This record gives sequence, structure tokens and C-alpha cells, in this order.
Amino acid sequence: MGRNYRAQLTGVFGYPVDENPTVVMQQAAFKELGIDWRYLTILVKPSDLADAFRGLRAMNFAGINLTVPHKIEALKYVDEQALEVRLIGATNTVVNQNGRLIAYNTDGKGFVEGLRMNGVDLKGKRLAILGAGGASRAICVECALASAAELTLINRSVEKGEKLASLINEKTDCRASFIGWEGAIDVPPCDILINATSIGLYPDENCPDINYDSITPEMIVQDVIPNPADTLFLRRARERGAKTLDGLGMLVCQGAIGFKLWTGLDAPLDAMKRAIEAEQ
Ligand code: NDP
Repeated sequence: MGRNYRAQLTGVFGYPVDENPTVVMQQAAFKELGIDWRYLTILVKPSDLADAFRGLRAMNFAGINLTVPHKIEALKYVDEQALEVRLIGATNTVVNQNGRLIAYNTDGKGFVEGLRMNGVDLKGKRLAILGAGGASRAICVECALASAAELTLINRSVEKGEKLASLINEKTDCRASFIGWEGAIDVPPCDILINATSIGLYPDENCPDINYDSITPEMIVQDVIPNPADTLFLRRARERGAKTLDGLGMLVCQGAIGFKLWTGLDAPLDAMKRAIEAEQ
């Protein structure tokens, strides 16, 4: 049987270019569905971003992911922004629709989808979130859009935490408040506790400085850290009897949403997860 050599390209602009787990995950998805696409990592310097976007159109890429440092700057070069992008102010996924570039943000959507797949409906839930950086912002906006009732933000930098709480209060129906993070604080009353900081990402073996005795068995505890999947934060939460969900599941869910946006096909979640787990 002949081969179709008209491979479609997707890719990621940003850093790092080596060992990006998303490549492994997306290539596994293309292979599983037998579609002749490629997912490439492309190192783009901030000063070359405009040219990279011109190249993206010229070379008919189906779309790209964007990593730090391009997630905000990239908005200058797209034609349209999805609702969540307008609220979050950053994009991690662009779709090329016949030359028209549409920006999405799948980080928070992957988080919400991961919960949904584990039988958790966010409607009316109270969330406590450690961190107020990019991942937290995406998660807070999507949880608010998914009808969460209350968000308590806990962050070291007061300015960032207050700014995110104001955004949620001003732009959504969800209520948000901010607590400054000094020392091992108690987890506020909540249904879902989330570590949305970068604490615990390999090779860092730390966990967020909270009073772990304030975690209760009724809580669902989620980490955004994908590597290692089973972080010290999650292990300590399990010791308190809480149900835990890892950042690897969230990463696969956000990748699956990107896959569907680019290809129009449902992503083979199991194959994607197996491929990424084999790399850990
Ligand atoms: P940012 O740099 O934007 O934010 C980092 C956050 O962590 C800030 O709130 C920062 O607080 C806080 N923080 C870092 N170190 C400490 C510390 N020692 N004590 C207290 N707070 C600390 O990063 P991102 O939000 O973009 O990414 C965060 C993590 O989320 C990364 O590890 C990334 O891998 C992961 N991620 C996972 C995804 C997934 O699909 N699983 C998707 C996207 C991200 P401050 O504001 O005070 O500096």
C-alpha cells in the first residue's frame, strides 16, 4: 500500500526544545489514529516571534503550542482570541484555520476536564489554590466559567494574588478572595485544594509549606506538577485520607483538547498517557 506523504505539521514554539513530553504524547496520538502528522519543537527567540508566526502561515502548520516566554506576546500575532484567552490574557494553543490564526488556552480546560473524568463537577464547589502564576490564572478562570462557587487564592506575592482575585470577581460570577502566604498556613475550608505553584517539579522534591493536618478526607487534592506525577504534596494529602489527582492527568487532558482543536478528531487518551508515562 502506498503512503500519503503530505504530512501536516503542528508544533511548539518556545523553550525547552529537548525532551518536551508533549512531543511524545502528540506523536503517540497521531500514530494511534494512523494520521501522518508531525509535532515539532521549534526554538524561537522572543525577538523572532513575529517571523515565526509568518513562517507558521507560510508553511501551513495546522497549529502550535506556545510555552513561556511566548504565551502573552503571541497574542499580537493572532487574528482571534477565544473567550478564555481574553480573560486569562495568555495563549498556549493556536489553530491555523486556512490562514486565520485562532488563540486558545487549554491549561485550565485540561484541569476541568481531568476533574470531570474523575467524576467531579465544579458547580458550586469551593476551591483553595496555592499560587497565582500562569497555571493558576488559567485554572481559576476555567473553574469560574465552570460555575465554581468560591476561590480562595493563596500566594507569596501579594500583588499577583490580589490581581487574580480581582479579575475573577470583576469578570465572572464566582467569588474570589486572597490570603497572603507566610509560613505553614492552614488550608481554608474547601472541597478542592490545588497546588498551582512550581514547587515539587523535578528535580525539586519539596512540597508547598502548608499545615498538612488541615487537609481533611473529604477534600480532593490536585497537583499541577506533571513530573514527577506522584509528588510529595499528593503523598502527604493521601496520608490525611484525601483523594488525589496528579498533574500528568491534567497535562494529557490539555494535550487532548489541543489535538482535537488541530485535527478535529477525538484524542486517544490512553495511548497518550501510556506514551508519556513511559518517558517518566
Ligand atoms: P509561574 O512562574 O507563572 O508561577 C509560579 C507560581 O508558583 C507563582 O504563584 C509563585 O509565587 C509560586 N511559587 C514558586 N516558588 C514558590 C515558593 N518557593 N514558595 C511559594 N510560592 C512559590 O509558573 P506557571 O504558573 O506557569 O507554572 C506553575 C507550574 O504549573 C509549573 O511547574 C508547570 O510545570 C505546571 N503546569 C502544569 C500544567 C499541566 O498540564 N499539568 C500546565 C501548565 C503548567 P510568586 O507569585 O510569589 O512568585
